[in-house]
Amino acid sequence: MSDIAVGRLSDEELAQNFSDMYPRLDRKTALIEASRCYFCYDAPCMEACPTGIDIPNFIRKISTDNVRGSALDILDENIMGGACARVCPTEVLCEGACVRTAQENKPVVIGKLQRYATDWLMDSAEQPYERGPATGKKIAIIGAGPAGLAAAHRLAILGHEVDIFEALPKSGGLNEYGIAAYKVPDNFAQKEVDFILGIGGITVHHEKRLGEDIHLGDLRRDYDAVFIGSGLGSVQAMGLDNEHMDGLYNAVDYIADLRQTDDLSALLVGRHVVVIGGGSTAIDIAVKKKRLGAESVTLVYRRGAADMSATLVEQKFAQNNNVTIKHWMQPVAVKTVEDHVNGVEFEYTELDRDGKLTGTGETTTLHADMVFKAIGQVFVPDPVTHDSGRLELQNNRIVVDENYATSLAGVYAGGDCVVDNVGLTVAAVQDGKQAAKSINDYLMNS
Ligand SMILES: Cc1cc2nc3c(=O)[nH]c(=O)nc-3n(C[C@H](O)[C@H](O)[C@H](O)COP(=O)(O)OP(=O)(O)OC[C@H]3O[C@@H](n4cnc5c(N)ncnc54)[C@H](O)[C@@H]3O)c2cc1C
Ligand code: SF4
Repeated sequence: MSDIAVGRLSDEELAQNFSDMYPRLDRKTALIEASRCYFCYDAPCMEACPTGIDIPNFIRKISTDNVRGSALDILDENIMGGACARVCPTEVLCEGACVRTAQENKPVVIGKLQRYATDWLMDSAEQPYERGPATGKKIAIIGAGPAGLAAAHRLAILGHEVDIFEALPKSGGLNEYGIAAYKVPDNFAQKEVDFILGIGGITVHHEKRLGEDIHLGDLRRDYDAVFIGSGLGSVQAMGLDNEHMDGLYNAVDYIADLRQTDDLSALLVGRHVVVIGGGSTAIDIAVKKKRLGAESVTLVYRRGAADMSATLVEQKFAQNNNVTIKHWMQPVAVKTVEDHVNGVEFEYTELDRDGKLTGTGETTTLHADMVFKAIGQVFVPDPVTHDSGRLELQNNRIVVDENYATSLAGVYAGGDCVVDNVGLTVAAVQDGKQAAKSINDYLMNS
């Protein structure tokens, strides 16, 4: 029988397990940390930040107690600087490039300093941005995620009027429905959305889905330009029998439920949990299940540790949370008892002479009360292809040029839904910001 139950931990334990992962730096620590920065000329950390924040400059301002100025340096380039300070994999971005990393293996904690400055400004309740003089141009945006919100904010600064159409009841995209709860506690995602919309000139229409309630052809007719930032709408299938049995879940759906519940003790938790995948989503769901009280959580990936898209820091984080990671195994069968999942059979894998992943034929079965599939998300093309004028797709994502322009005149796209996007919040913000600049050039110069 499957052992799935609610309330495996007390309310106190759950509150502790889902509290802020890295609390904010206090002033004294921030000043000491800021003083470790060499303020490099041609700073490598700046190069490594996708949004190009002037990192030495914002850190220097912290060291002179000009926290407001520091926050503005960050937000001018990255309006989601608060979220990014909490969720960026800094170990492979800014901090990974910090000169102190090579010297002492201890980078300046750029992400935490960024949070120190941006939290200060958000707490002050000041709205530092205002809309530029009205241009009379109207832009429609699909999706109120990081890409859509960043594009909307920059377009509002440039004086345009923006309508965002969002399928879900809340704005924020995966910041609200996906990112690990302990990275963005205290309703941070909605506070940031309010801050961004506080500039004015942006209207969000919730529960309006492109392809159902609204259509690309109509938007092209009614607006001066369109930006698509709809992210990835579906999850990849493993292609196995029994994939839809009770007890086998899409990790992103469960994470969304977890993010929206106000009672963690009401969530179902298996005693033994298996997670299949190798990215941040797999790490997130594995750690969350452990923190919700699962007795054992095993994450299984078909290749080696270095091949996982989750960084080594993320892998270590999972292991520190008592998640067992097994490599070189691929799922071949979902085991069931009375229509409920009770395990997964895996085949061991290896690389053949040509470096191609292949099964060895040897198998093993891991018992599981709950199985989570986190093997990637896919773009749902229907809303942009079943319409007047088809958007060009490649590898099932939207093709854009260097200006974020799609194959349809006046239609731009950015974030997870475009080809070659790296799947990070900071990258989606940069896409939205840059696409807005291109849309402005297109509207004002044509
Ligand atoms: C579980 C999980 C954990 C993650 N953790 C991290 C992390 O720690 N750090 C990090 O940097 N990145 C993380 N990411 C990746 C990051 O969240 C995304 O790269 C980022 O949110 C992409 O932004 P976006 O605006 O392109 O898409 P999304 O955030 O997906 O936003 C798209 C929005 O469009 C809406 N939409 C979709 N289809 C339609 C439609 N037809 N009509 C209208 N609206 C529509 C959606 O409802 C959504 O609100 C994580 C992703 C997942 C799934
Ligand atoms: S936005 Fe992210 S990558 Fe850029 S400086 Fe801030 S924490 Fe680092």
